[in-house]
Amino acid sequence: MHNFNRYSRQIAFRDIGQTGQEKLLSSTIAIIGIGALGTALANLLCRSGIGHIRLIDRDYVELSNLQRQTLFNEDDVTNNTPKAIAAAEHLKKINSSITIEPIVTDVNAWNIEELIKGCDLVLDGTDNMGIRLIINDACVKNHIPWIYGGAITTTGMSMNILTSEDAPCFLCAFPGAGAHVSHDTCSTVGVLGMIPSIVASYQAVEALKILIGSEDIRRSLLYMDVWSNDTGQIDIKKNLECPACVHREFTFLSQPQTPYTTTLCGRDAIQVIPFGKRNINFESLSKKLSHAGNVKFNKFMLSFSDSTIEINLFSDGRAIIKNAKDENAARSIYSEYIGY
Ligand SMILES: [Zn+2]
Repeated sequence: MHNFNRYSRQIAFRDIGQTGQEKLLSSTIAIIGIGALGTALANLLCRSGIGHIRLIDRDYVELSNLQRQTLFNEDDVTNNTPKAIAAAEHLKKINSSITIEPIVTDVNAWNIEELIKGCDLVLDGTDNMGIRLIINDACVKNHIPWIYGGAITTTGMSMNILTSEDAPCFLCAFPGAGAHVSHDTCSTVGVLGMIPSIVASYQAVEALKILIGSEDIRRSLLYMDVWSNDTGQIDIKKNLECPACVHREFTFLSQPQTPYTTTLCGRDAIQVIPFGKRNINFESLSKKLSHAGNVKFNKFMLSFSDSTIEINLFSDGRAIIKNAKDENAARSIYSEYIGY
């Protein structure tokens, strides 16, 4: 049984009440990306009593994250804890009466539908357009609402992508997003810690409205610049020729499944994903690698470094490689040290 006293101030707000709280407790959400937006979202929504929260992230905690990723601490940096795991550990101490489900993985066209299965709502905590287009395709296809959020420098944006017939989708709002390559990342132009917290707060309040079926759900694209004090809303029209929400052609989901590499946004690092799921034995691999450099491992990740490179390997075979000069070099490093 739930102790509703925990949520008494939220229940006292008449638009939520006991009925709304019960709806929240029986809801399942996924937060994709547990960085600055994702930690703020997870913190607020865990405290609000969303019954089941799935936390999905591919990365681990680093010192430069602490300025804005508000669930993490220095122990998480020292322990190289994967973000989803670290967030789940902290959230369980905040609310042990709900289900927190951490998943350490890259989100891509081949696994997203499985990852969002059973969700009433998906929240975007990612930092790049490519993944958002995949989220959009998967959510529109499976009739799951999702909430876009973006934050960079001192600016932020958010939009609800709803499942009703007349609602525009993310591709309606950003038709050129597929070809859009932005060179601005948090590491090149920076980001203040406050802006992702503000955007995530807007996303979180819309999440409550969507989950309880409120009539006050925002139907525009919200933007703000907290430095120049500029805030507004843009009406987005449904594109009657939209490939995703009108023609239901989900091109971003139909990429062929191959081993692949991606340069991680805002990081001097490249991710390598070998084909198929593998189960890596960290103990035997660390013995082998200890002759070549420094190795340490925990339950989730093995870290290897020598004078030139650093490899962080997850047990499913996925690796994040630092100091590789390009994606080809990263693949060679992977095959040399870990092997395909
Ligand atoms: Zn659309």
